[in-house]
Amino acid sequence: MLNALTIDVEDYWSILYRDWLHVKDAIPSEAVVRNTRWFLQVLAEYNTKATFFILGEVAQCFPELIKEISRAGHEIAVHGFYHRQIFKLSRDEFKKETGDAKKLLEDLSGQEAIGHRAPAFSINKDTQWALEILAEEGFVYDSSISPMQGRRYGWPGFKKEIHRMPLTNGQSIIEVPMSTVSLGIKELGIGGGYMRHLPYFYTKWAIGHIQKKRPAIIYLHPYEIDTDIVLLKLDNFTGQGKIKAFKFHKSQMRNRQTVKGKVDKLLLDFKFSTIKSILRNF
Ligand SMILES: [Zn+2]
Repeated sequence: MLNALTIDVEDYWSILYRDWLHVKDAIPSEAVVRNTRWFLQVLAEYNTKATFFILGEVAQCFPELIKEISRAGHEIAVHGFYHRQIFKLSRDEFKKETGDAKKLLEDLSGQEAIGHRAPAFSINKDTQWALEILAEEGFVYDSSISPMQGRRYGWPGFKKEIHRMPLTNGQSIIEVPMSTVSLGIKELGIGGGYMRHLPYFYTKWAIGHIQKKRPAIIYLHPYEIDTDIVLLKLDNFTGQGKIKAFKFHKSQMRNRQTVKGKVDKLLLDFKFSTIKSILRNF
Protein backbone atom coordinates (compact mmCIF):
# COMPACT_ATOMS: atom_id res chain seq x y z
CA MET A 1 0.00 0.00 0.00
CA LEU A 2 1.25 3.44 -0.97
CA ASN A 3 0.75 6.02 1.77
CA ALA A 4 0.96 9.82 1.53
CA LEU A 5 3.63 11.83 3.28
CA THR A 6 2.68 15.47 3.69
CA ILE A 7 4.86 18.27 5.01
CA ASP A 8 3.31 21.54 6.20
CA VAL A 9 5.95 24.15 5.41
CA GLU A 10 5.75 26.93 7.97
CA ASP A 11 8.15 28.75 10.24
CA TYR A 12 7.74 28.02 13.93
CA TRP A 13 8.96 31.44 15.07
CA SER A 14 6.65 33.52 12.92
CA ILE A 15 3.66 31.50 14.11
CA LEU A 16 4.71 31.66 17.75
CA TYR A 17 5.23 35.41 17.63
CA ARG A 18 2.14 36.23 15.61
CA ASP A 19 -0.42 33.79 17.02
CA TRP A 20 0.73 33.53 20.60
CA LEU A 21 2.48 36.83 21.32
CA HIS A 22 0.45 39.00 18.92
CA VAL A 23 3.41 40.53 17.12
CA LYS A 24 1.82 41.78 13.89
CA ASP A 25 4.86 42.02 11.63
CA ALA A 26 6.43 38.63 12.47
CA ILE A 27 7.93 37.18 9.28
CA PRO A 28 9.31 33.67 8.59
CA SER A 29 12.91 33.08 9.67
CA GLU A 30 15.71 31.28 7.79
CA ALA A 31 15.07 28.25 10.02
CA VAL A 32 12.24 27.14 7.74
CA VAL A 33 14.70 26.90 4.83
CA ARG A 34 17.30 24.96 6.81
CA ASN A 35 14.77 22.52 8.23
CA THR A 36 12.92 21.97 4.93
CA ARG A 37 16.25 21.25 3.23
CA TRP A 38 16.90 18.47 5.73
CA PHE A 39 13.63 16.87 4.62
CA LEU A 40 14.55 17.28 0.94
CA GLN A 41 17.82 15.51 1.62
CA VAL A 42 16.38 12.57 3.56
CA LEU A 43 13.57 12.13 1.01
CA ALA A 44 16.17 12.01 -1.77
CA GLU A 45 18.13 9.35 0.16
CA TYR A 46 15.04 7.16 0.33
CA ASN A 47 13.95 8.07 -3.21
CA THR A 48 10.58 9.18 -1.84
CA LYS A 49 8.28 11.97 -3.02
CA ALA A 50 6.00 13.95 -0.72
CA THR A 51 3.31 16.62 -0.84
CA PHE A 52 4.50 19.98 0.52
CA PHE A 53 1.65 22.20 1.76
CA ILE A 54 3.32 25.61 1.78
CA LEU A 55 2.39 28.96 3.31
CA GLY A 56 2.23 31.91 0.95
CA GLU A 57 4.38 33.97 3.32
CA VAL A 58 7.17 31.35 3.18
CA ALA A 59 7.07 31.46 -0.63
CA GLN A 60 7.19 35.25 -0.52
CA CYS A 61 10.26 35.34 1.76
CA PHE A 62 12.11 32.34 0.30
CA PRO A 63 11.13 31.84 -3.36
CA GLU A 64 14.21 29.71 -4.09
CA LEU A 65 13.06 27.12 -1.56
CA ILE A 66 9.82 26.56 -3.49
CA LYS A 67 11.80 26.05 -6.70
CA GLU A 68 14.08 23.55 -4.93
CA ILE A 69 11.13 21.53 -3.62
CA SER A 70 9.50 21.45 -7.04
CA ARG A 71 12.74 20.63 -8.91
CA ALA A 72 13.18 17.61 -6.62
CA GLY A 73 9.89 16.24 -7.97
CA HIS A 74 7.65 16.84 -4.96
CA GLU A 75 4.07 18.05 -5.09
CA ILE A 76 3.49 21.75 -4.37
CA ALA A 77 0.22 22.50 -2.54
CA VAL A 78 -1.32 25.35 -0.52
CA HIS A 79 -1.34 25.82 3.28
CA GLY A 80 -2.94 29.30 3.34
CA PHE A 81 -0.97 32.53 3.33
CA TYR A 82 -0.40 33.65 6.93
CA HIS A 83 -1.41 30.45 8.77
CA ARG A 84 -4.68 31.97 9.94
CA GLN A 85 -7.28 29.37 10.92
CA ILE A 86 -10.41 29.42 8.77
CA PHE A 87 -12.69 30.44 11.66
CA LYS A 88 -10.69 33.68 11.96
CA LEU A 89 -11.44 34.62 8.34
CA SER A 90 -14.45 35.89 6.42
CA ARG A 91 -15.33 34.17 3.13
CA ASP A 92 -13.74 37.01 1.16
CA GLU A 93 -10.56 36.96 3.24
CA PHE A 94 -10.24 33.21 2.86
CA LYS A 95 -10.79 33.44 -0.88
CA LYS A 96 -8.14 36.12 -1.25
CA GLU A 97 -5.50 34.45 0.98
CA THR A 98 -5.93 31.07 -0.66
CA GLY A 99 -6.05 32.46 -4.19
CA ASP A 100 -2.93 34.60 -3.59
CA ALA A 101 -0.97 31.66 -2.13
CA LYS A 102 -2.02 29.36 -5.00
CA LYS A 103 -0.96 31.84 -7.66
CA LEU A 104 2.39 32.60 -6.02
CA LEU A 105 3.25 28.91 -5.56
CA GLU A 106 2.25 28.10 -9.13
CA ASP A 107 4.28 31.00 -10.56
CA LEU A 108 7.37 29.93 -8.62
CA SER A 109 7.12 26.18 -9.19
CA GLY A 110 5.59 25.98 -12.65
CA GLN A 111 3.28 23.29 -11.20
CA GLU A 112 -0.46 23.52 -10.80
CA ALA A 113 -1.27 23.47 -7.08
CA ILE A 114 -4.37 21.27 -6.91
CA GLY A 115 -4.33 20.54 -3.16
CA HIS A 116 -5.10 22.53 -0.03
CA ARG A 117 -4.58 22.05 3.69
CA ALA A 118 -6.08 24.54 6.12
CA PRO A 119 -3.83 25.91 8.86
CA ALA A 120 -4.25 23.79 12.00
CA PHE A 121 -6.76 21.43 10.26
CA SER A 122 -9.36 24.15 10.76
CA ILE A 123 -12.06 22.83 8.41
CA ASN A 124 -14.88 21.35 10.44
CA LYS A 125 -18.69 21.34 10.51
CA ASP A 126 -18.79 25.09 11.13
CA THR A 127 -16.24 26.12 8.53
CA GLN A 128 -17.15 23.71 5.72
CA TRP A 129 -18.16 26.71 3.57
CA ALA A 130 -14.44 26.96 2.86
CA LEU A 131 -14.66 23.82 0.68
CA GLU A 132 -17.00 25.63 -1.72
CA ILE A 133 -14.49 28.43 -2.16
CA LEU A 134 -11.71 25.91 -2.73
CA ALA A 135 -13.71 24.23 -5.51
CA GLU A 136 -14.44 27.64 -7.05
CA GLU A 137 -10.72 28.48 -6.94
CA GLY A 138 -9.90 25.34 -8.90
CA PHE A 139 -8.61 23.04 -6.16
CA VAL A 140 -9.12 19.34 -6.93
CA TYR A 141 -8.70 18.12 -3.36
CA ASP A 142 -8.62 19.29 0.24
CA SER A 143 -6.78 17.56 3.09
CA SER A 144 -7.79 19.55 6.16
CA ILE A 145 -10.30 17.42 8.01
CA SER A 146 -9.23 15.39 11.00
CA PRO A 147 -12.00 12.91 11.90
CA MET A 148 -11.49 13.19 15.66
CA GLN A 149 -12.20 15.48 18.58
CA GLY A 150 -8.87 17.21 19.10
CA ARG A 151 -8.16 19.90 21.64
CA ARG A 152 -7.93 22.64 19.02
CA TYR A 153 -9.41 20.98 15.90
CA GLY A 154 -11.33 18.06 14.47
CA TRP A 155 -14.63 16.88 12.99
CA PRO A 156 -15.61 13.83 15.05
CA GLY A 157 -17.43 11.12 13.10
CA PHE A 158 -16.25 12.39 9.69
CA LYS A 159 -15.72 9.63 7.10
CA LYS A 160 -12.14 8.30 7.18
CA GLU A 161 -11.86 7.26 3.51
CA ILE A 162 -10.81 9.51 0.66
CA HIS A 163 -14.07 10.52 -0.99
CA ARG A 164 -15.72 13.05 -3.27
CA MET A 165 -17.89 15.53 -1.36
CA PRO A 166 -20.83 17.17 -3.13
CA LEU A 167 -21.06 20.85 -2.14
CA THR A 168 -24.07 23.16 -1.83
CA ASN A 169 -22.83 25.39 -4.67
CA GLY A 170 -23.34 22.45 -7.06
CA GLN A 171 -19.62 21.68 -7.33
CA SER A 172 -17.66 18.94 -5.55
CA ILE A 173 -14.21 18.38 -4.08
CA ILE A 174 -12.19 15.31 -3.11
CA GLU A 175 -11.55 15.20 0.65
CA VAL A 176 -8.43 13.40 1.84
CA PRO A 177 -8.98 13.15 5.62
CA MET A 178 -6.04 12.98 8.01
CA SER A 179 -5.42 9.47 9.30
CA THR A 180 -6.48 8.72 12.84
CA VAL A 181 -6.69 5.52 14.89
CA SER A 182 -9.00 4.58 17.74
CA LEU A 183 -7.43 3.57 21.01
CA GLY A 184 -10.40 2.59 23.11
CA ILE A 185 -12.39 5.79 23.61
CA LYS A 186 -9.59 8.00 22.35
CA GLU A 187 -8.83 8.83 18.73
CA LEU A 188 -5.23 9.77 17.94
CA GLY A 189 -3.58 11.31 14.90
CA ILE A 190 -0.33 10.23 13.21
CA GLY A 191 2.70 12.43 12.57
CA GLY A 192 3.39 15.91 13.97
CA GLY A 193 3.20 16.07 17.75
CA TYR A 194 1.97 12.45 17.95
CA MET A 195 5.17 11.23 16.37
CA ARG A 196 7.35 13.61 18.37
CA HIS A 197 5.90 12.80 21.79
CA LEU A 198 5.09 9.10 21.46
CA PRO A 199 7.61 6.29 20.98
CA TYR A 200 8.16 5.24 17.34
CA PHE A 201 6.36 1.93 17.81
CA TYR A 202 3.05 3.83 18.10
CA THR A 203 3.53 5.42 14.63
CA LYS A 204 4.64 2.07 13.17
CA TRP A 205 1.67 0.23 14.62
CA ALA A 206 -0.83 2.93 13.58
CA ILE A 207 0.32 3.09 9.94
CA GLY A 208 0.50 -0.70 9.71
CA HIS A 209 -3.07 -0.86 11.00
CA ILE A 210 -4.44 1.81 8.63
CA GLN A 211 -2.70 0.69 5.45
CA LYS A 212 -4.52 -2.65 5.59
CA LYS A 213 -7.65 -0.72 4.59
CA ARG A 214 -6.64 2.60 3.05
CA PRO A 215 -3.57 4.76 2.40
CA ALA A 216 -2.30 6.41 5.57
CA ILE A 217 -2.07 10.21 5.33
CA ILE A 218 0.78 11.42 7.56
CA TYR A 219 1.79 15.02 8.33
CA LEU A 220 5.09 16.46 9.51
CA HIS A 221 6.46 19.97 10.12
CA PRO A 222 10.00 21.00 9.17
CA TYR A 223 10.50 22.78 12.52
CA GLU A 224 9.91 19.61 14.52
CA ILE A 225 13.48 18.46 13.82
CA ASP A 226 14.97 21.79 14.92
CA THR A 227 16.89 21.30 18.15
CA ASP A 228 18.40 24.78 18.30
CA ILE A 229 16.70 25.35 21.61
CA VAL A 230 16.07 29.06 21.99
CA LEU A 231 14.75 30.23 25.30
CA LEU A 232 11.73 32.38 24.83
CA LYS A 233 12.42 35.84 26.26
CA LEU A 234 9.12 37.08 27.50
CA ASP A 235 10.27 40.30 29.17
CA ASN A 236 9.22 42.42 26.21
CA PHE A 237 5.70 41.07 26.18
CA THR A 238 2.77 41.96 28.36
CA GLY A 239 -0.59 40.45 29.15
CA GLN A 240 -1.99 37.01 29.89
CA GLY A 241 -0.98 35.59 26.52
CA LYS A 242 2.59 35.46 27.80
CA ILE A 243 2.03 32.46 30.05
CA LYS A 244 0.08 30.55 27.38
CA ALA A 245 2.82 31.29 24.85
CA PHE A 246 5.46 30.03 27.26
CA LYS A 247 3.58 26.75 27.85
CA PHE A 248 3.02 26.29 24.11
CA HIS A 249 6.70 26.90 23.42
CA LYS A 250 7.81 24.45 26.10
CA SER A 251 5.62 21.69 24.69
CA GLN A 252 6.69 22.44 21.11
CA MET A 253 10.37 22.09 22.05
CA ARG A 254 9.92 18.76 23.84
CA ASN A 255 11.28 15.59 22.19
CA ARG A 256 12.46 17.35 19.05
CA GLN A 257 15.78 15.49 19.31
CA THR A 258 13.88 12.23 18.60
CA VAL A 259 12.26 13.29 15.32
CA LYS A 260 15.09 12.90 12.77
CA GLY A 261 15.60 9.29 13.83
CA LYS A 262 11.88 8.59 13.67
CA VAL A 263 11.60 10.07 10.15
CA ASP A 264 14.46 7.80 9.07
CA LYS A 265 12.67 4.70 10.41
CA LEU A 266 9.38 5.82 8.87
CA LEU A 267 10.92 6.07 5.40
CA LEU A 268 12.59 2.71 5.85
CA ASP A 269 9.49 0.89 7.11
CA PHE A 270 6.77 2.23 4.77
CA LYS A 271 6.22 3.32 1.19
CA PHE A 272 5.13 6.92 0.70
CA SER A 273 4.31 9.20 -2.18
CA THR A 274 2.36 12.38 -2.90
CA ILE A 275 -1.39 12.77 -2.44
CA LYS A 276 -1.63 13.63 -6.12
CA SER A 277 -0.22 10.23 -7.12
CA ILE A 278 -2.53 8.39 -4.71
CA LEU A 279 -5.50 10.16 -6.29
CA ARG A 280 -4.53 8.79 -9.70
CA ASN A 281 -5.89 5.44 -8.52
CA PHE A 282 -8.96 7.07 -7.02
ZN1 LIG B 1 0.33 24.51 9.70
